[in-house]
Amino acid sequence: MNRRAKVKAGSRAQRKRDLLEQAARIALPERADVCVIGGGAAGLAAAIVAAEQGTHVVVLERDPECGKSILATGNGRCNFTNAVLDPMQYNDPSFVKAACGTSWLDNILAFFQACGLAWVLEDEGRMYPRSRQAASVRNVLLQRAQDAGVTLTSAREAIDARRIAGAFTVRYRECFGDEKLRSLDARRLILATGGGALGLAANLGLAVSATQPILCPLACSGFGLKAIDGRRAHASLSLVRDGDVVACEHGEVLFRDYGISGIAAFNLSRHARAGDKLVLDLLSDMSVQEATARASHTLDGLLDPAIARELRMHAGSNEGALRTAKHLELEVLGPAEKERAQVTRGGLVNSQFCPTTLEAYDVPGLYACGEVLNVDGPCGGYNLAWAWQSGMVAGRG
Ligand SMILES: Cc1cc2nc3c(=O)[nH]c(=O)nc-3n(C[C@H](O)[C@H](O)[C@H](O)COP(=O)(O)OP(=O)(O)OC[C@H]3O[C@@H](n4cnc5c(N)ncnc54)[C@H](O)[C@@H]3O)c2cc1C
Repeated sequence: MNRRAKVKAGSRAQRKRDLLEQAARIALPERADVCVIGGGAAGLAAAIVAAEQGTHVVVLERDPECGKSILATGNGRCNFTNAVLDPMQYNDPSFVKAACGTSWLDNILAFFQACGLAWVLEDEGRMYPRSRQAASVRNVLLQRAQDAGVTLTSAREAIDARRIAGAFTVRYRECFGDEKLRSLDARRLILATGGGALGLAANLGLAVSATQPILCPLACSGFGLKAIDGRRAHASLSLVRDGDVVACEHGEVLFRDYGISGIAAFNLSRHARAGDKLVLDLLSDMSVQEATARASHTLDGLLDPAIARELRMHAGSNEGALRTAKHLELEVLGPAEKERAQVTRGGLVNSQFCPTTLEAYDVPGLYACGEVLNVDGPCGGYNLAWAWQSGMVAGRG
């Protein structure tokens, strides 16, 4: 490790120590009206809405600080919603439609306006905080939660939750000092643990479906991927299964030695299965005739020269390279760099929850919101939009 990296790691460790010290100073009551497990996007929205109705809300967050997951979103800029929210973009449209209603975007914008956030609209309906800093979104939420009287705690990991005599008892571990186990009783419980912590579901009698990472790069085989590692192209991509096109995307592709990355690949990862064929048109903005006329000598003027060279090597001629550029086939092996996945598909089975309140049908007083439910959408602000809206619905309950 060089000196700069050492200094950086040292200051990160110091910050974590400071945060844990701060977390330890917050005393937790033994009782609350509402306990929210998970202080991420959905949990904070739920806590704010519940507390503003006059209830005492405690948020249990296992990270050293609440809202940390928001900081990494949108490359640190937080694409907090899309201007065109359509349930059909999600894996469970009817559930999302019932939960989000028709004034979904207005609700989200009104919520953030009341938090004091200003925003900007960028390409493809992507909305960002005016500061282009995810910390703005996180901070306005924390401030509003504090103003509403929410007890925000961090470095507390819920390890078990049960419903006893009509109320909930949550056992949690303090992630500092001698890691004591403590418990909190609440009349209502909101699960907002994101893609993980499904272990809590078992003792609450909730069914869970298998999880899988999505919105991540795709591992593929075929063509000379090693030679074009790190190169980019604008392409149309079609995912083909048994001869049928199951999904299409258009956008920038980043070739990696293991496959492809970039937003188009991330979006296709929601639909892809091992064995699918991925067909790329690297010259989708021109016909074969047009491309032939322009590239009569070389493809270098149309594509990254490293990609053009690999296409020529592969096809043996300029004409062959052009044909391959219009129809480049790869085979999908599965998700890649799973640790970089933006969303986890699966989780709590949606049909156990009333979609308009997000309360569990069989466990009165228990709610879920955000990614812990089996709801996912494409890149572009759709996943956070679900987190805010479902959080508000659960908090209202
Ligand atoms: C790198 C990256 C970039 C992204 N960018 C975008 C974007 O720009 N736009 C967009 O719409 N979506 C984006 N997403 C997706 C988005 O972040 C999620 O959909 C959203 O955060 C889900 O909100 P959530 O509250 O359900 O879960 P989270 O935000 O993950 O919050 C869950 C919280 O629960 C806590 N927790 C878990 N288990 C326990 C436990 N047992 N006890 C206590 N606390 C617990 C976790 O520590 C976490 O803080 C991105 C995701 C990633 C990873």
